[in-house]
Amino acid sequence: MHEMSLAEGVVRIIEEAAAREGFSRVRVVRLEVGQLAGVEPAALRFCFDAVVRDTLAEGARLEIVPLAGSGWCHDCAREVAIAAHYDACPACGGYRVQATGGLEMRLLDLEVDDPAGEPCCATTKSE
Ligand SMILES: [Zn+2]
Repeated sequence: MHEMSLAEGVVRIIEEAAAREGFSRVRVVRLEVGQLAGVEPAALRFCFDAVVRDTLAEGARLEIVPLAGSGWCHDCAREVAIAAHYDACPACGGYRVQATGGLEMRLLDLEVDDPAGEPCCATTKSE
């Protein structure tokens, strides 16, 4: 289940951000997950809850922000919305669609208990 390694990657980013910015408790983790990223949100949630145990993100709420998939249709020569890899082009029905958007997952931001009371924005790409 690759969601487990993704969840571990997210926790690693959170711990690095905590070390850098000096917060000790994470309340909300907001993740953007592309429709074509190959990530099952339910599985990711399950894995996240497992890997945050005994970390500063234990009990944090995971918010998954979906990002629609898109692709470039070589026949229409334009960008079209697709829900999955190898979907047909919704405009012409052709299969020469190359996925261009919604392929990644990234950490949007964190809500933390910050000793300074400052809002924290740890926007870090998770590749
Ligand atoms: Zn097309």
